[in-house]
Amino acid sequence: MAAPTQLPYTNAQVEQLPKILIQEGMCNDVVDPDIFFSEEIAEQEIAISLCSICPVLEHCLEYAIRNEMYGIWAGTTPSERQTLNSVSVITPEFRREAAEIRFDIESEILTVTQIAAKYRVDERSIYRYKARLRKEAS
Ligand code: SF4
Repeated sequence: MAAPTQLPYTNAQVEQLPKILIQEGMCNDVVDPDIFFSEEIAEQEIAISLCSICPVLEHCLEYAIRNEMYGIWAGTTPSERQTLNSVSVITPEFRREAAEIRFDIESEILTVTQIAAKYRVDERSIYRYKARLRKEAS
């Protein structure tokens, strides 16, 4: 049998991991980088919260939506990246805001009303986002 030419967790036309992520990504400094690929929700939440304060989040998301099918990258799950990839115009602000909204929902410090007001979006959008997160977690 021929040796596989592609690692199973990457797309067919994978790009090289950008140097800036290797040099400045906060995931390089964690004791257990497996949390970014964990099945445990609690560990995924830790990974997402680290991403939310990572200085290269925007570079990471640009790369990840094109290349990474598994794991937490730039504070997003695989299905979130799939959704982002289908949005025709994705601004850096949109990406950061999506990660920040997710972080606020999951940290459960603010109410839905407060999160909606903070990001100037309809409360229903936050409820929909929460429902999606619950579905992913089940
Ligand atoms: S955004 Fe998250 S996954 Fe990307 S480099 Fe930073 S810590 Fe790592």
